[in-house]
Amino acid sequence: MDYRAMQLDCYCGQAPDRILEVGFTSDRHLVVHFWCSSCSRVLFISRSLDECTQACPPAAAKAGAQSAEDARFLQSIGIATPE
Ligand SMILES: [Zn+2]
Repeated sequence: MDYRAMQLDCYCGQAPDRILEVGFTSDRHLVVHFWCSSCSRVLFISRSLDECTQACPPAAAKAGAQSAEDARFLQSIGIATPE
């Protein structure tokens, strides 16, 4: 499973020091509250389900295809791979 960190940037351009709270809204948004010590502000970002889906890395199917390709390559040079 691939993982991609969510980018949290303050208006001042600094990355937050602390995430204060993560939650969900009644209209199906993910909300993250965070603290920026550079400007001493609490900020929040909100992401819809579509935005969350778009932010996800490509599915593991790609990694599986790559493994099969690796196995074929190893077999082509005479190295057997365990199934
Ligand atoms: Zn800031």
